[in-house]
Amino acid sequence: MPKEKSVKLSDKSKPTVKPVTEERKVEPAPKAVAVERKAEPVKKEAAKKEVTAEVKTEKAVTAEIAGKTAPKAEPAVAQKAMAEKPVKAAEKTAAAENPVKAAEKKAAAEKPTKAAEKTATAAKPAKAVEKKAAAEKPVKAAEKKAAAEKPAKAAEKTATAEKPAKAAEKKATAEKPAKAAEKKTTAAKKAPEKKAIKESEPVKAVEESKPVEETPAEAHNATPRRSVAFIGSECYPFVKTGGLGDVMYALPKALVKQNCDVKVILPKYKCIPWEYQEKMVYRGSFQMDLCADGRSFYVGIMEYVWDGVVYDFIDNEEFFSDGNPYTNLVDDIPKYCYFAKAALAALNYMDWIPDIIHCHDWQAALVPVYLRTQFVNTKLTTAKTILTIHNLRFQGIYDIPTIRYWSGLPDHVFNKDVLKVKYKDANMLKGGLAYANAITTVSQTYAGEIQSAYYGETLDAHLRYHSGKLRGIVNGIDYDIWNPDTDDRLYENYNITNVLDKKKENKRKLQEELGLAQDDHKFVIGLVSRLTNQKGLDLVASILPKVMDGHTQVVVLGTGDRNYEDTFRYYEGAYKGDVCSNIMYDETRAHRIYAGADALLVPSRFEPCGLTQLIAMHYGTVPIVRETGGLKDTVEPYNMYSNMGNGFTFDRYEAGLLLDAINRAKTLYFESRWCWDEMVQRDMDKDLSWEKSAKQYKDLYLDLTR
Ligand code: ADP
Repeated sequence: MPKEKSVKLSDKSKPTVKPVTEERKVEPAPKAVAVERKAEPVKKEAAKKEVTAEVKTEKAVTAEIAGKTAPKAEPAVAQKAMAEKPVKAAEKTAAAENPVKAAEKKAAAEKPTKAAEKTATAAKPAKAVEKKAAAEKPVKAAEKKAAAEKPAKAAEKTATAEKPAKAAEKKATAEKPAKAAEKKTTAAKKAPEKKAIKESEPVKAVEESKPVEETPAEAHNATPRRSVAFIGSECYPFVKTGGLGDVMYALPKALVKQNCDVKVILPKYKCIPWEYQEKMVYRGSFQMDLCADGRSFYVGIMEYVWDGVVYDFIDNEEFFSDGNPYTNLVDDIPKYCYFAKAALAALNYMDWIPDIIHCHDWQAALVPVYLRTQFVNTKLTTAKTILTIHNLRFQGIYDIPTIRYWSGLPDHVFNKDVLKVKYKDANMLKGGLAYANAITTVSQTYAGEIQSAYYGETLDAHLRYHSGKLRGIVNGIDYDIWNPDTDDRLYENYNITNVLDKKKENKRKLQEELGLAQDDHKFVIGLVSRLTNQKGLDLVASILPKVMDGHTQVVVLGTGDRNYEDTFRYYEGAYKGDVCSNIMYDETRAHRIYAGADALLVPSRFEPCGLTQLIAMHYGTVPIVRETGGLKDTVEPYNMYSNMGNGFTFDRYEAGLLLDAINRAKTLYFESRWCWDEMVQRDMDKDLSWEKSAKQYKDLYLDLTR
């Protein structure tokens, strides 16, 4: 697509640079070269963006919201090129000819949009899309039919499922008695009218984050089908910087098994490995008004289908051509304003109207705001929105003039109940939380914690206000990727029956690979983490000399803040042969550490869910964690009297308590090995799959759309 000129901010509106609270390193999926997140001073970038004359030259040519309502004819040249070859080539061609306007005019003069689309779709790759679309039709038709028959049919279906009455009963008893009675009587005939979650509901604080009622496993696949659009900024294996990427990959897959039709909408970053980019198919394009002055932008849709999930990538080189998804807020704010609106416009354009739009983190937080403002007159308005908080620390805050300009949102949303924070800033996450029909976060404990001042990252009052629609659903891990029995990155595969022997072999080979003393009897502690302030590394750094007793080895894998990287490098030198600091991002090494270590350290200051402790347990590696967020919800502390539990825990954020937890682990390991071994097997046996959580999400979808 044509690369448009950067928009610049005039001196007057030049944004004040805010420190990006915490930097993330990006690891594009396998085979991708690790891309470091630019932490460069933002001034330069700010200077680059000046909103002035150029804005006029880029005067919006097209339909207001884009999409179906007025899909502009994409430049014929560009379309043809895009349809024939991978995007890049098309973009270059189009850019070279300067583009959008001229070609558009030409195209418009020649034929209406639809015709242009047809030309494009007639080209090779498009055939596939058409076929796919045709294949999708029956499903859609069925869905529509189902929707028309709602809710009676839906309820009937549920009722005819294997154990419907029980399911209904179970749900009913969890609710108020009156409702329960009502439901019981109507369960066989009519869908129970559950009160939709409303913003205006009174504050119920933590009470609302009680476990989501669960429908029994066997009834689930018989629950009514729901279509869900996932909107987020990263997704394994295309691009991943942390847990969000894992969830965006694994949850849609798990939802497909729960009778959901899922489409994942992502930015088409340049850093996505070519092996995926080349398989994407052009699905269409249009111009979209974005900014307050009506400036419009190109939106391309590239599609990739995998494992039953449809991935639609929003293509625009101006926003997504950095080597990294996140750069700095000056660039990221316009980028994700654009992305949020383009995602909705793309759904509209494809005429794919989901029951649920499930948004993730601040990068997609404006979606519910757009939906309830600029998209109210589109078909999409029937969709319910969910916003999931994966990490409250990142919120997308910038001054109001900048966000107002880039988002093009109406003035009334810049009030203190929606986007406004402090005196002159706007907070994109806050706006999304206000407008979403439901809010989830990735563990029940974190759902409660974020309503307190300590964990609330200044949004605690806002979250308390909206607590009626907030709940926690813990993450799982994808057993296709994380399975020690089949994991081809391991030296030796193993399962619960041979873990004790095979783990020793993995440990020995890990020691050999990392240049540590090869000794079965040493207690190996792993740490796989972003090296940032969130992860409790100051505690680790302060007690490490006390941990190094001649019988212990420590293996660190991570990148992040310079001071932590240097600290761990220093310890490697100080304890040669017993400490190994791998300051890098390396998937294979991570897998080998999970398999070869005896214990894994996760002493986080806060942890929304945490995946490393889950992976560790599944690999028979005992977690040592701080009791916060998802760590608290997933690791049951070892009880020496009952000989039960999954790991070692400590509560307050204190170095002494972390040391104590490590020492308790060592004591069990060295003095009661049989108890340790039993814990290893218990951990491997624990159900950490996505299935349970996916069911909870499905229940939430059903609650919202009954
Ligand atoms: P967060 O999202 O806060 O970074 P999570 O525990 O939710 O933390 O997810 C971390 C994910 O990133 C895990 O899959 C972990 O294995 C992976 N990971 C973190 N650091 C590295 C690294 N240096 N090399 C390989 N994988 C890493």
